[in-house]
Amino acid sequence: MRTVVVATRNKGKVAEIAVALAHLSLNVVSLANFADMPEPVEDGQTFRDNAVIKAKYYARHTGLACLADDSGLEVDALGGEPGVYSARYAGENADDAANNRKLLAKLAGVPVDQRTGRFRCVLAYIDETGEIITAEGSCEGVILAEPRGEGGFGYDPLFYLPELGKTLAEISVAEKNKISHRGQALRNFVTKLEERGL
Ligand code: IMP
Repeated sequence: MRTVVVATRNKGKVAEIAVALAHLSLNVVSLANFADMPEPVEDGQTFRDNAVIKAKYYARHTGLACLADDSGLEVDALGGEPGVYSARYAGENADDAANNRKLLAKLAGVPVDQRTGRFRCVLAYIDETGEIITAEGSCEGVILAEPRGEGGFGYDPLFYLPELGKTLAEISVAEKNKISHRGQALRNFVTKLEERGL
């Protein structure tokens, strides 16, 4: 069975990716298995650039097939911020709570009909053939004025899905995968993988 390293230390991402790939005959491991490995510099200007940087780097350094995710939130009223800076919006070592506080401060006074935005995800996969497969997904929603829900990670407690009447932090991993940017990107990725018979 092929081993694939998922190029992230984000436990939320690992859980979602593991659930979405569970039906494939892949042995999915994460960077938790490579505790001391230094991180690459993610200096791309797009999610795609950063996903490819991570996939190439970790495939080379682990000797395994690698699936990298780069993702983030684009808020219309903020001209697309935080975008590729989503993980470090409130500073280099900012945690989710600090990033969420900064987002709420920037949106203070913005009326609900102008608090629209989307999550985007680009996956990049590379194996021993050297071919890079990329797949994308996005998920539209509204940024609440205060957090709701205990699940998920990152900006999930602020990201409200009008059609569900819930935030991404108020649904299970399986439900989130059905509608999220990452779930959609993972389905597109699996289709491409199956088309290649991998
Ligand atoms: P990356 O690890 O450099 O791709 O940064 C992704 C960042 O975007 C995360 O740290 C979160 O802040 C945010 N993000 C990406 N996907 C999600 C999601 O599914 N829910 C909530 N926040 C997300």
